[in-house]
Amino acid sequence: MRVHLINPSHLAFGVGVITPRWLYVLAAATPSRFGDPVITDETLEMLDPLAIEAGDIVGIGIHTGNALRGYEVGRLARARGAWVVFGGIHATLYPDESHALGGAHAVVKGDGDIAWGQAVNDCVAGTPNIVYEGGKVDASSFLPARWDLIPRDKYMWASVQTVRGCPKHCSFCSVWKTDGQKPRQRTADAVVSEIVELRRRGFRFIALADDNFYPVTLTDIKMASRRADPAQRMNLEATRAERFELMDKLAKLPADMVFFTQITMEAAEDPAFLDAMRRARIKGALVGVEAVTPAGLKDIYKDFNYAGETLVERLRAFKDAGVHVLGSFIFGLPSDRPETFEATAAIASRAGLTFAQFVMLTPFPGTVDFAAWEKTMESDQTRIGGVPLTRHWLIPQELRPKVYTPHPVMDADEIRRRTQAVWDDFYSLPKIWERSKCVESLKGRLAFVMISKLYRQMYANTGIATDSARVNRSARWARMIAAPCRRLFAAPPMPDLQANQPPDLLPGTLDLLILRTLVAGPLHGYAIADRLKIVSRDVLQVGESSLYPALQRLLLNGWVKGEWGASANNRRARYYTLTAAGKKRLAAERAEFERLVVAIQRVLDLT
Ligand code: SF4
Repeated sequence: MRVHLINPSHLAFGVGVITPRWLYVLAAATPSRFGDPVITDETLEMLDPLAIEAGDIVGIGIHTGNALRGYEVGRLARARGAWVVFGGIHATLYPDESHALGGAHAVVKGDGDIAWGQAVNDCVAGTPNIVYEGGKVDASSFLPARWDLIPRDKYMWASVQTVRGCPKHCSFCSVWKTDGQKPRQRTADAVVSEIVELRRRGFRFIALADDNFYPVTLTDIKMASRRADPAQRMNLEATRAERFELMDKLAKLPADMVFFTQITMEAAEDPAFLDAMRRARIKGALVGVEAVTPAGLKDIYKDFNYAGETLVERLRAFKDAGVHVLGSFIFGLPSDRPETFEATAAIASRAGLTFAQFVMLTPFPGTVDFAAWEKTMESDQTRIGGVPLTRHWLIPQELRPKVYTPHPVMDADEIRRRTQAVWDDFYSLPKIWERSKCVESLKGRLAFVMISKLYRQMYANTGIATDSARVNRSARWARMIAAPCRRLFAAPPMPDLQANQPPDLLPGTLDLLILRTLVAGPLHGYAIADRLKIVSRDVLQVGESSLYPALQRLLLNGWVKGEWGASANNRRARYYTLTAAGKKRLAAERAEFERLVVAIQRVLDLT
């Protein structure tokens, strides 16, 4: 029996830009007794169905864009006798669809960090639940990814998450609903230790795959002060301080490292934050500009953004702080007019954006826009390939419309043509060459041109084109330039790089020590770390980034169980108790450890 994790895609490019992090996180969440999962990322190469055997467990993660291919993979896996488990944003929103169309035995809703392991255990026992409620796990339970499984030569950027959730409520976005509005922030140590592992393996470009890297604004803090809400103010200030702590630690990593993140435009009004980003070498950020007019921003509930010349100034502030902006714009908003397209292109250019993407308004499930649109479509009888428009992700790829919501002054084709024209203009060779001045050497400028063209082929042509010949041509072109582009991002591995933390324990030793510590009775995480420190007379100082993943491993293997309770100072804490299986494991591990110590001692005693 093998566990498979599959990222479905109908197009494969041979090389990926950003690592789909979830594959490697769920690999970490797979109970170790089932071995290393087989990972298939179809954006690299398509699945070989023969790799799946009867009794295997197949985990498929889907978002709305790849749900149709995901269902195809699910049916195929089930036909081969495997257990099929779906997860991801789309499966969370439509669990029944995964069962009806994707051959699912089970669906994990919400975060998979804990629930995936339970689903695997139940499949092995032959009794999976229809649905697992993964919920929104606490940041201390976020698992570090299994980067030891990443193919070194396939991705340009590795990805590490620092915070989940976004306090905003943009109408076209589902993140704040699915990941929640309360930021769940990982400790700086946990983030840095993953980054160090990636740098050891030769990744120097890291995408900080966050919903919003700037979860607390200066305005939020001012408002909490004005409301005379000291508890909220302290909370916000603590979250902000943790961001600075993280950036300080990033700044101490090897000087060739470069980070990219997603952030709201409000960060441009926070010089201290921008300065910290510059020092941390966060050299790029995706900024959701969306619209360049106040009416457009109102359409999407994003009136915290700026329009017109103030917008240009804000975007320039990022550039002045050394942060290159990938500006994201939406076309097809109700207030858009034909002249909006040109005005947007002009602002993108004046604001000094390094990259830009221009997407057409699509009502995605889980968003406020989708709920309103679905209501207006109740009496609509249109079917494409037998599928109603409100289930557009089920329409075969080649028949899928590009624009869904009727526009007051433009038809769908006009919006598509004008959007394509803005892409063409922004990514014309003379304009790319002009923008490439942001790097100094000629070699660097040529690399910039290649990467701009790759970005254009991967995201614009394949997304906006209506005919399959053009899509295939773009995909072929992207495949051709993707491999040389990847080489531009590679760096020599630094296997000896340390995370500036106490030396690693021997592999597996931490699990043994935790199990032994729990023999005396249940303890919460902090108390376990404290006990290890005291008993070892300060030699064993275990940080959260090692402790919580180890506890998670022990939970998944059934060697400890966890229950929420209150700590001595009345804070919510999870208490861990040794199970009968854990006692057996402890005895076995201890015997093995003692054998190892004797063996090491023999070597050291050589004369
Ligand atoms: S678009 Fe960005 S800022 Fe708006 S809710 Fe989504 S993640 Fe947050």
